[in-house]
Amino acid sequence: MLEIKNLQVRLQDEDKQILKGLDLTVEAGKVHAIMGPNGSGKSTMSYVLAGRDGYEVTGGSATLDGRDLLEMEPEERAAAGLFLAFQYPVEIPGVGNMTFLRTALNAQRKARGEEEISAGDFLKLVREKAKTLKIDADMLKRPVNMGFSGGEKKRNEILQMAVLEPTMCILDETDSGLDVDAMKLVADGVNALRDAGRAFLVITHYQRLLDHIQPDVVHIMAAGRIVKTGGPELALEVEKEGYSDILGETA
Ligand code: ADP
Ligand code: MG
Ligand code: MG
Repeated sequence: MLEIKNLQVRLQDEDKQILKGLDLTVEAGKVHAIMGPNGSGKSTMSYVLAGRDGYEVTGGSATLDGRDLLEMEPEERAAAGLFLAFQYPVEIPGVGNMTFLRTALNAQRKARGEEEISAGDFLKLVREKAKTLKIDADMLKRPVNMGFSGGEKKRNEILQMAVLEPTMCILDETDSGLDVDAMKLVADGVNALRDAGRAFLVITHYQRLLDHIQPDVVHIMAAGRIVKTGGPELALEVEKEGYSDILGETA
């Protein structure tokens, strides 16, 4: 599904290489976790895949279902099924959450050559998804993320994901700053969306999230590359021994 080969990325404004030959393949139906020390380039990888400005790809490739992601506009990437949940969700004053969701869904449909969803169908869809995620009606009416607690913002992102039904979901430290209950809700939301046609890339520092979202594959990223890949036991190893021991082994 997602195939990254020898990806090399530098910052546009600074002469700084961040990704230094990153290889990663994520198959449909799988959950891959990426762990790794701060500053290793995990967020940069997510941003580059989503098409954020400020980065220059100096080599390598990234494809989604065989299509060149790096050639697409950000909204084309979303229409192709890519979704990125940010570490710090943005607040959008003046735009109601429902309006935002509907606009995002319709933009995706339009890019796919599909008809807009009717107001009635949309309402039904959002209410159903919100209910399973324990998001109350009040949160749907408020401006996007304005005054939301950390946990509410994360749940709102999972709601966006549930409504847009992307095929490749990237969660960049969606667990940071969450209490145990909120983390469990996020994990439940992800687990509810797991299916054979959808893949997840879960970037996290914490094994405890992976207690709730069982990954199929765990990768360690360091200094702009994937340096180690294993099963769920690799996350337990990180928790127990820290990165330096594990990275020492591979150095
Ligand atoms: P991670 O998510 O693994 O913590 P990041 O991708 O956020 O790593 O950062 C990788 C490196 O790139 C860090 O050294 C960080 O300081 C640097 N970096 C990323 N984006 C920028 C930016 N816009 N300006 C300056 N430095 C940046
Ligand atoms: Mg970081
Ligand atoms: Mg990061």
